Amino acid sequence: MIKRPKYILSCSGGKDSVASLLLAAVHKEPLEEAVFAEVMFDHETSGEVPEHREFIYQTLKPFCERELGIPFTILHSLKTYEDVFHHVIVRGPYRGMKRGFAWAGHCCVNRDCKSLPIRRYLSPETVSYVGIAADEPERLARLDGRTKISLLNKYGCTEADARKLCGKYGLLSPVYEHCSRNGCWFCPNAGKKELRHLLTHHPELYARLLVWEKEDNVFNRRLTRKETPSEVKARLMNEIQTGTSVS
Ligand code: SF4
Repeated sequence: MIKRPKYILSCSGGKDSVASLLLAAVHKEPLEEAVFAEVMFDHETSGEVPEHREFIYQTLKPFCERELGIPFTILHSLKTYEDVFHHVIVRGPYRGMKRGFAWAGHCCVNRDCKSLPIRRYLSPETVSYVGIAADEPERLARLDGRTKISLLNKYGCTEADARKLCGKYGLLSPVYEHCSRNGCWFCPNAGKKELRHLLTHHPELYARLLVWEKEDNVFNRRLTRKETPSEVKARLMNEIQTGTSVS
């Protein structure tokens, strides 16, 4: 017997996946569940930017479940960023050292803390809606069109359209007030605006990175491609004090 596919939305809470949720509802596309993988910094502290986490729990999940009648499931990996950072390298010249901060372009947090719980949760019969916009041709070309589908592309919705649609329903994550993407607060790909927001609005979180930077036997002490947390902090605080504009 051929099993009927289960339609799931893989939802980060960013504008593209939220717009996909709205399009599914407006166009009555089949959708049984929205799934969000929350990255954890450690077992007590979320890796999501606090404003974004609050948006997910207080706004998006209730909207999805109460207004649309679609379950919104929040998954957690057994691994946290703390585990990823303290993973001991077992091969090569750096054997015995702690891995350290996530590497830009090769993020183990994405693999171990974000993608893994989703992959484990989905059954082979799942069809996933992914938030890739109509004006992202390279990313769209990687979709197989069978198990991964872009509703944004189906309905001709660009990234700008997605943002507008979320705004119309009051479902644009507050992270877009200070930056153009949502990601973990310790992301190695974070831009200046995200790092500055973290430093000025969540200094207690930033302080956790400064502590890790000082640990012994750490292979990668850089938070971004070039700088350690203390170097990033010194540069940005200097810019803030001298009134240098953020770009
Ligand atoms: S947002 Fe950044 S740190 Fe988080 S999983 Fe993605 S690449 Fe890694």
